[in-house]
Amino acid sequence: MEYKEILDEIEKQLEGEAHLDELARKKQDPFKILISTILSARTRDANTRIATEKLFAKYNTPESIAKANIDDIEQLVKSSGFYKVKAARIKEVSKILIEEYNSNVPDDYEELLNLPGVGSKTANCVLVYAFKVPAIPVDTHVHRISNRLGWVTTKNPLKTEVALKNTIPKELWIKLNRLLVRFGQQICVSIKPKCDVCSINKICPKDFSMELAVKKKKKSL
Ligand code: SF4
Repeated sequence: MEYKEILDEIEKQLEGEAHLDELARKKQDPFKILISTILSARTRDANTRIATEKLFAKYNTPESIAKANIDDIEQLVKSSGFYKVKAARIKEVSKILIEEYNSNVPDDYEELLNLPGVGSKTANCVLVYAFKVPAIPVDTHVHRISNRLGWVTTKNPLKTEVALKNTIPKELWIKLNRLLVRFGQQICVSIKPKCDVCSINKICPKDFSMELAVKKKKKSL
């Protein structure tokens, strides 16, 4: 199967919409996508959504966030976890955007990386979701699934990103994160992946369904 066919098969099986996907579909501004991606670190989509919407209901520009009281920002983004660190970062990012980028979010990978709290995954998310620039944001789901499918053999997300860029045709980069993140949340989950109902189990070298069935049987004995 070609990569495109595999991704199409995956897409057919998915439900709902990830938060960044929703923001991109609603053509939200790059600033909201950047801040939401920073808030999404080490938390679930639902928590990111709540924190983003609460924050942007009150402060929705770099200027308003830069001027806001830090305690207030912390309370608004509390649901995203690590809220003190995240509040400080988004306030600092807002100040830098005002001072160095005329209140705009840069659409350049290296410039994005220079912002506090912005690593490779966040920079690539902003490129893909805010600017539709082909890039591959690699989070835990993309890293795990790419390795399970045998697309790459890598030990960490940064190496996965490089390996995927050498493997996946560029026209598919833009949809890779969108599909694999939801696939990783719904089917190819970290523990006990749902291989028995997975639409690509026939071509997956890591189909765990037998292994899980044996374990289940042993437990029932
Ligand atoms: S068969 Fe299992 S391991 Fe392979 S992609 Fe599907 S859910 Fe993931």
